Amino acid sequence: MNATTAAAGHDPVHPMDETELADLQRRLLAWYRAHRRDLPWRRTRNPYHILVAEVMLQQTQVDRVIPKYHAFLARFPTIAALAAAPTAEVIRAWAGLGYNRRAVNLQRTAQAVVERHGGELPRDLNALLALPGIGRYTAGAIACFAYEQDVGIVDTNIRRVLHRLFIGPELPVPQATPRAIQALADRLVPPGEGYDWNQGLMEFGAVHCTARKPACVVCPLRSHCRAYPAIQAALAAAPGAAARREEPFVGSSRYYRGRVIAALRRLPAGAAVDLLTLGPQVRDDFSPAWLPWLYEVVAGLARDGLAQLAEERAAYDAGDPAAGDPGRLRVRLPH
Ligand code: SF4
Repeated sequence: MNATTAAAGHDPVHPMDETELADLQRRLLAWYRAHRRDLPWRRTRNPYHILVAEVMLQQTQVDRVIPKYHAFLARFPTIAALAAAPTAEVIRAWAGLGYNRRAVNLQRTAQAVVERHGGELPRDLNALLALPGIGRYTAGAIACFAYEQDVGIVDTNIRRVLHRLFIGPELPVPQATPRAIQALADRLVPPGEGYDWNQGLMEFGAVHCTARKPACVVCPLRSHCRAYPAIQAALAAAPGAAARREEPFVGSSRYYRGRVIAALRRLPAGAAVDLLTLGPQVRDDFSPAWLPWLYEVVAGLARDGLAQLAEERAAYDAGDPAAGDPGRLRVRLPH
């Protein structure tokens, strides 16, 4: 039976026999052992440290994460310390990483670990998945990188590398579902080598088989790669054609949410701010006409646990924005 077709059915995964798969695994592991970067979360098996690193790395570049990882662990040295901290402090400690909702979710995970597991992250994949804020990737990363279990994991880099190796170019449209890629990742893990295999795939995608400039010419996996001919043809025909378009960031909803959180971080601990004072710190063209819009932004942050709304009236009273009446709503970081 082919090593990669046992669960394939009609999925687009290219079959690879066991000899070929073993050669691919050997090449990838050798590449990783020769090229791996010395990163702080690769020097530890502490599950809490791995959790913090994985959550930070999900949407932030490695070089920005490293100093924040050290500072965060210095401020919250244990999962119990994180669970017990004021949420406002956790959000402050997240400054510079973006996607602040991750900070709140991380603390919720910590609180659940303290309540349900006595402060120890569980080893079992399903028990990890049952925790708030933990998806399949993070659960697999903790099981593999902290407890050295042979489980498959799929992040952006691994998804791209596996798609290229076993299916073909992932652009313009991926040819496999997330479920098919996860199933492929699960059955590829070499027994006893899950840690280096998963770290190796991620590293390979991060620095060698990148989205925009895969280094195919010097690639040790080229003879196994289904995407190589098509990617080379695309790069030769239109340099940059393989690159994905970046979404505009300035002016996006996430941009303004970030500016509100930055303004709230500047307040003294426990202090709140009214919307008319907050508005000009969020957008340069702020006027009272923007009050309903600003209210929607802060209400969204409050729903996500990133802000608290303090009202002197029972409900938000927008007053008359055209007349500059902001109501009496005040906003602050959560306690
Ligand atoms: S040949 Fe190119 S696309 Fe294929 S794995 Fe190597 S770097 Fe990636």
